[in-house]
Amino acid sequence: MSEIPYKIYLSEDELPLNWYNVRADMKNKPAPLLNPATLKPMTFEDLRPVFCDELIKQELNETDAFIPIPKEIREFYKMYRPSPLIRAYCLEKKLGTPAHIYYKFEGNNTSGSHKLNSAIAQAYYAKAQGLKGVTTETGAGQWGTALSMACPYFDLDCQVYMVKCSYEQKPFRREVMRTYGAKVTPSPSDTTEVGRKINAEFPGTSGSLGCAISEAVEAATKQDGYRYVLGSVLSQVLIHQTVIGLETMAALDKYNVTPDVIIGCAGGGSNLGGLISPFMGRKLRGELDCQFIAVEPASCPSLTRGKYVYDFCDTGHVCPLAKMYTLGSEFIPSASHAGGLRYHGMSSILSQLYDDGLMEARSVEQTSVFKAAQEFARVEGILPAPESSHAIKVAIDEALKCKETGEAKNIVFGLTGTGYFDMYAYKAYNDGTMSDYIPTDEDLKRGFDALPKV
Ligand SMILES: *Cc1c(COP(=O)(O)O)cnc(C)c1O
Repeated sequence: MSEIPYKIYLSEDELPLNWYNVRADMKNKPAPLLNPATLKPMTFEDLRPVFCDELIKQELNETDAFIPIPKEIREFYKMYRPSPLIRAYCLEKKLGTPAHIYYKFEGNNTSGSHKLNSAIAQAYYAKAQGLKGVTTETGAGQWGTALSMACPYFDLDCQVYMVKCSYEQKPFRREVMRTYGAKVTPSPSDTTEVGRKINAEFPGTSGSLGCAISEAVEAATKQDGYRYVLGSVLSQVLIHQTVIGLETMAALDKYNVTPDVIIGCAGGGSNLGGLISPFMGRKLRGELDCQFIAVEPASCPSLTRGKYVYDFCDTGHVCPLAKMYTLGSEFIPSASHAGGLRYHGMSSILSQLYDDGLMEARSVEQTSVFKAAQEFARVEGILPAPESSHAIKVAIDEALKCKETGEAKNIVFGLTGTGYFDMYAYKAYNDGTMSDYIPTDEDLKRGFDALPKV
């Protein structure tokens, strides 16, 4: 068991010197990734054609609690970190709650979200390995933007497969990426075999995240000196995001604040996992009694209504199988405005913690999320991303519960990003044309029917 004496893990500019790997402290480890061909656990060699060597080591590492953050990455972090941990005095006052509400704001960099924390790490390891470039997919666009911003810092080529409907609906995101030097291709495209196959099978399709992943993986394996990188779900990404939780822990400890509830939105689980990991470590070691809540959209309820089984990570079925809470790789969520929360599965680390009863999950409907976002923006000033607003919604719910019970709980939530590129979503809410869609059991069954028989 590993104690976190954060003081010696912080540099003098208050940046963590190490990331924290919560698996080292978990009694029940997440199930291993499986090779889809052999159904055997994925080995270092199996993963080498697709991922960077050092990142594979992090992916497979279940024993080291601390992973040193290379100096080059810390230098980059310094440009926008530590990110602010803000006490929401105005929101508390507006709600009339005795609770103390804190939020960790990750939207303070140009890419606009926490995804940069992992993008810069992945770009660094690709460069350190002597690679020419990386490929990836992006749905809503935040991950592609973050990676586009990270790559030129290390003089790496960046190729982004962007889900076609988002490529068309979010031209400005695309232009931000191109400005940083990335090559952006709408997916499905005719530049890969899997893209051509999907286009032939479903003419006129507007694409999906799973399909863009398959294209990006193929592009990486077919070009010399390229590897594929991913912005969420994987354990390596969650490790990089622990910079959020470690900074939060250092700041709260400094002011002698013990969190009672920690809340985060969950798409693939990276920001939530990163925020809660160090606190979960304390809970696992019996040092902290804290409630952790994952918030997901009712339209894509992988934790609250999904199954805990092995599933494909992508529609093209080229990636390893992961045991996770999933709705099935064929599940297509309705067109919700929280694009970053539309993934069918969930981080295997968070899935295991949830299955062990160490973390809770709630699902919320999008109109209630935008109502919370608007309420928050009007008093706290920040225009939140729709994804982040899922956490705001539940933080407000919890604060209102405290108002009834009179408890002065310390509530901490992750505010993962800003919503400047989501103004069509805000427009729909402001115009009163936004609707909620909750999948029926029938809809979910279609996704479950396509689960692999492992
Ligand atoms: C991608 C994204 C998320 C969801 O991803 P996780 O891996 O679950 O953290 C949440 N908020 C924002 C702003 C995002 O860009």
